Amino acid sequence: MRRMPAHWRILAALALATGLAMVLRRLGAEAPEGAPVHAVTASLISFCRFAGELFMRALKMLIVPLVVTSVVTGITGMRGVQGFGRLGMKTALTYLGTGSIAILLGLAMVNLLEPGLDGGVPNPVIRDAFASSAASAVSPDAARVAAAGERVPGDFLAVFRSMLPENIVHAATDNGQLLGLIVFGILFAVALTRLPEGELDTVHRFFRAAAAAMVVVTGWVMALAPFGVFVLILPVVYETGAHLFVNLGKYFATVLLALALHLFVVLPLILRIGFGVNPWAQLRAMRPALLLAFSTASSAGTLPVTLRCVEQGSGVSRRVTGFTLPLGASVNTDGTALYECVAVMFVAQVMGVELGFAGQFFVVAAALLTSIGVAGIPSASLVAILLILKSSGIPGGEAAVVALLSVDRLLDMSRTAVNVFGDSCVAVIVAKSEGETLRV
Ligand code: ASP
Repeated sequence: MRRMPAHWRILAALALATGLAMVLRRLGAEAPEGAPVHAVTASLISFCRFAGELFMRALKMLIVPLVVTSVVTGITGMRGVQGFGRLGMKTALTYLGTGSIAILLGLAMVNLLEPGLDGGVPNPVIRDAFASSAASAVSPDAARVAAAGERVPGDFLAVFRSMLPENIVHAATDNGQLLGLIVFGILFAVALTRLPEGELDTVHRFFRAAAAAMVVVTGWVMALAPFGVFVLILPVVYETGAHLFVNLGKYFATVLLALALHLFVVLPLILRIGFGVNPWAQLRAMRPALLLAFSTASSAGTLPVTLRCVEQGSGVSRRVTGFTLPLGASVNTDGTALYECVAVMFVAQVMGVELGFAGQFFVVAAALLTSIGVAGIPSASLVAILLILKSSGIPGGEAAVVALLSVDRLLDMSRTAVNVFGDSCVAVIVAKSEGETLRV
């Protein structure tokens, strides 16, 4: 019997987990206190949490060896720094271009739909909701935001700092410092290309074999993906109540609509009109990675699968993916950049702050810069949002971010999928411009 394709298995797991979580919520609400259903559900949720953590750890375990081996094989395979310079320039420009379009799209949508206003005036219900989130100052969310708030002023420079880690081993062990690891990997690989031909060949063959072994290990972890998605999603759906969507419904709609437009209209148009790529084939090739990004809310965690889909599905060479995708997972975050802009403008609307052209321009520039430094892990962009709110002098930033953090999961899952698709598009665009024959 033929096995079901990976994306169907993952989608089935997603649907099953959502259905079961909703049934459990219903049963829990109807059963009296102390009924066995509560104990069974609690055990199931803790099992899922633990199993989900194991799955995430397995994915994260792949990141450092994959980043190092792909960056090094990608660059040493190019033989010569000119090739790399050209590729690097194209990649950086495409990242900047798609990121800016995403932010402007977010800006247009938030100005058009005005989710923070009610009949043209700041929405008092949402403002109260912000205040009551801040009042629960003992919650872990509030503590996290307060900790981030303390180190926020002047932290725009953090992006540049993280490019040059003091200690490369430390960078490799810290999820947020992927960028430092990549920069070092690039320097190391470019230095290798300066070695005499014989020595370069030996090192290149070593890294190529190591990268091939990592692809095999990724395949093993991917075989567990449906189970991983099931155990990650079940607790999320079980704990997310409908009340969250009532107050913030218009905000959710604005973010999701803008993300959907970027994913299904803007990026496909760029692929089709600009580069003659079939966008639907590209979306199809990326299905397992998109579903995994959606389930894990981590583009760094999804990187192993993104690499696999772009190489095996879209047919892009390791030479291009090895460089563009690890870098993209760390710096190219279209969904995050768009979200940062919408969130900041939304808080400004709720707090009754009118941002003129200069104010909005600052938000756009800040979203572009900070999205580069946002780590590919769940809810990482909330710290950047707090930084932009504080720097633009919008009051109530911390209370607002606590409130947004407590309803972040669905939006995080959606923007992470957009981040991953954006990375894959850049890899395809660069490969196409290098004359590669693709399958999309
Ligand atoms: N979760 C996102 C990612 O992994 C980052 C964020 O926007 O919070 O790409």
